[in-house]
Amino acid sequence: MIARRFILHFPAAVADRPVVSRLAGEFKLDFNILRATIDPGNYGIMLLELTGAKEAMERGLEFLRQAGVSASQLDQQIHRDERRCVDCGACLGFCPARCFAAEAGSGRIAFDNGRCTACGQCLKACPRRAMELLL
Ligand code: SF4
Ligand code: SF4
Repeated sequence: MIARRFILHFPAAVADRPVVSRLAGEFKLDFNILRATIDPGNYGIMLLELTGAKEAMERGLEFLRQAGVSASQLDQQIHRDERRCVDCGACLGFCPARCFAAEAGSGRIAFDNGRCTACGQCLKACPRRAMELLL
């Protein structure tokens, strides 16, 4: 059983179709809509958490692709703008996945987005707004 968060982009042609509910019925995936802006007949964006078997999730994502809905995994969407980061360390205590670490000697704060669960805590914690969610 795995849990993943995705950004879904709905083109106008499918914005009013119940594609997300079919993930539960046909693919036995639990879904949690964390945020959505969908205007039937227009472009839509949804932040969605899916939980289920890995194979079922892959089949569900393929179903979305074939329906014309693009899905980007959210942990790949958290980005640090290195020009803004001043290595203050404020993010160190906020990240539950320990994506940030102080590098011995250099004074730098390293960022490893491979551990990121896209919780969004660092976006609020960073005084320089160096952490960004790419949509
Ligand atoms: S809080 Fe922001 S500026 Fe400070 S180390 Fe973390 S990412 Fe860099
Ligand atoms: S989004 Fe959450 S898990 Fe990812 S780097 Fe920021 S605080 Fe850590």
